[in-house]
Amino acid sequence: MNRPEHQIPILDLSAEIEALWDELNAATQRVLRSGRFILGPEVEAFEREVAEYLGVKHAIGVNSGTDALVIGLRALGVGPGDEVITTPFTFFATAEAISLVGATPVFVDIDPNTFTIDRGLIEEKITPRTRAILPVHLYGQAADMDSILGLAEKYGLKVLEDVAQAFGGEYKGRKLGTIGHAGAFSFFPSKNLGAYGDGGLIATDDDRVAETARMLRAHGARRKYHNEMLGYNSRLDALQAAILRVKLRYVDGWNEARRKAACTYNELLKDVPGVVTPYEAPYAKHVYHQYTVRILDGKRDEVQRRLTEAGIGTMVYYPVPVHRLPVYAPVRYALPEVERASREVASLPIYPGLTEEKMVYVASELKRCF
Ligand SMILES: *Cc1c(COP(=O)(O)O)cnc(C)c1O
Repeated sequence: MNRPEHQIPILDLSAEIEALWDELNAATQRVLRSGRFILGPEVEAFEREVAEYLGVKHAIGVNSGTDALVIGLRALGVGPGDEVITTPFTFFATAEAISLVGATPVFVDIDPNTFTIDRGLIEEKITPRTRAILPVHLYGQAADMDSILGLAEKYGLKVLEDVAQAFGGEYKGRKLGTIGHAGAFSFFPSKNLGAYGDGGLIATDDDRVAETARMLRAHGARRKYHNEMLGYNSRLDALQAAILRVKLRYVDGWNEARRKAACTYNELLKDVPGVVTPYEAPYAKHVYHQYTVRILDGKRDEVQRRLTEAGIGTMVYYPVPVHRLPVYAPVRYALPEVERASREVASLPIYPGLTEEKMVYVASELKRCF
């Protein structure tokens, strides 16, 4: 087996930037010449284009995915004393946002196939204080939205989708982030639609939620200097919006490339004992923000070490489930599937432009570990 000349990082954006160089240049120069750097026409144009792409009435650009969650929760009326049911198998920000608005996250175990919240375990956690459910479309795959919306309807709860990892992903043909009462997106550079800095967005069909979110992102003011409530400085900036407008036109192609890469990996890895390839639920269009396998028999850490030695970047999302992090650890939870996943998962390199030759190399090095 010939080794590729270069290392294979888990993510490589250089080809994308190279390919879009002229368009990115034109877009950033347009903003620099305009002298409008915060919100303004560029952000409004991006919001219109994303809303159209998603098929949603309102899109509100904010500073980050974390802020999209915080503002989304507050706009949905979640606040002190409320409980929000979510998954602890996610990035810290999901739970952090719940705590930052004064509510309490209530953690539920995951479905071992999709790594998303286990729909069968939500109802038993609903109390009179439950205000919302916050599913995370982890790794680019949808949570089981029909069940979640059914429970929300039955108990009068709000649903905020964490779509940070799933821009362009679908559930039964509908874009993720448009199915619940609101969706919170992140444009962190590594996400499927990434800015070259921080950025985020709230999507909703609800006029009042949208209006509140717009106020909250700008110090609680509808009109400048007429502040009506305590909000945030969480405006999307025009440079990021201009860059995102360029990239939005390519995101479907990139997601298709990710799906194709996932198919190739699935084929290459299908007969490797000790490796479980990702499951794509029949309801989902998975956009493979991560290509995440399970490594069985307690070998994950050793396999990760050996792949690192072979020049292959891998990551564990997430080695410590959120309910075990110091902020939340005082409350004890028994969540066996989350615990098991945190010991078994490893994400392999995946990005548009990853060549088949590189995937063959990754797969053969992975096989050599067994
Ligand atoms: C990235 C991410 C966030 C936070 O987004 P930022 O833009 O980094 O603030 C929230 N939730 C999940 C699941 C994420 O992957």
